Amino acid sequence: MLRQVAEGVLIHGSEFCQSNAVVVQGRAGVLLIDPGVLGHEMACLANDLSDSGQPVVAGFSTHPHWDHLLWHVRLGAAPRYGTARCAATVRVRLPDARAKARLAEWIPPDIADQVPLDLLGLITGLPAGTARIPWDGPHIRVIEHQGHAPGHAALLIEERGVLVAGDMLSDVLIPMLDLTGSADPIQDYLAALQLLEGAAGDVDVIVPGHGSTGGADRVRVRIEQDRAYVHALRDAGVPGDPRIGPSATFGNDWLPGVHERQLQHLARKREHNVTPG
Ligand SMILES: [Zn+2]
Repeated sequence: MLRQVAEGVLIHGSEFCQSNAVVVQGRAGVLLIDPGVLGHEMACLANDLSDSGQPVVAGFSTHPHWDHLLWHVRLGAAPRYGTARCAATVRVRLPDARAKARLAEWIPPDIADQVPLDLLGLITGLPAGTARIPWDGPHIRVIEHQGHAPGHAALLIEERGVLVAGDMLSDVLIPMLDLTGSADPIQDYLAALQLLEGAAGDVDVIVPGHGSTGGADRVRVRIEQDRAYVHALRDAGVPGDPRIGPSATFGNDWLPGVHERQLQHLARKREHNVTPG
């Protein structure tokens, strides 16, 4: 079921981690951002679009994590884009069918058989530094940053005031840092938040990759909340963050412990960086 969040911008929810697929209406069809997770949900979205005579003319993956790289055969064969760095990361991490099969281990077992991996990660990298999505529709600014994943991009649909945040600025998930792909994950994440803050003045609606949409007031609240979490993580403090704990885990046992894992990883990193003597 599609829900309009702004003129010409609709979202389609998944029961997996409150994921949001975003549909942007253009002149000849729609741009589909992070299409969804479960096969039957993407098929439902494909039906809704074809029933209303709106072919998918382009796709976009906000970043190279499996739940943002999926596609369904019924969505058609439109070009699917990501940033150059996102596409390069996919090529390295998912070079062949064996790698895809290994990836299946990361998918929560209760949904693994419902996630179609055939068309996973078939994206074309936009040239580095691309400022706008190349398509026949409203101008969409690409805001690329590091922090959550290599080549992560938020998209600002300028004429509609909608910020599609990817895996940033969620009201249900804490910031998850790219701990292995970055030399300074904390600094990268803070820089990403600052970049998004710079765009916040143009935003009327925020759509996170997971969680609830929010109005203009929520954008700054979420930026502050994420910054406070990252500061607490940096200072090994105890974040008073309501997103930590069972209420934010959607009943999956792979999500609890993210905060502890991040703390431990950063502590180990600090130990390595202290030169003895
Ligand atoms: Zn992610």
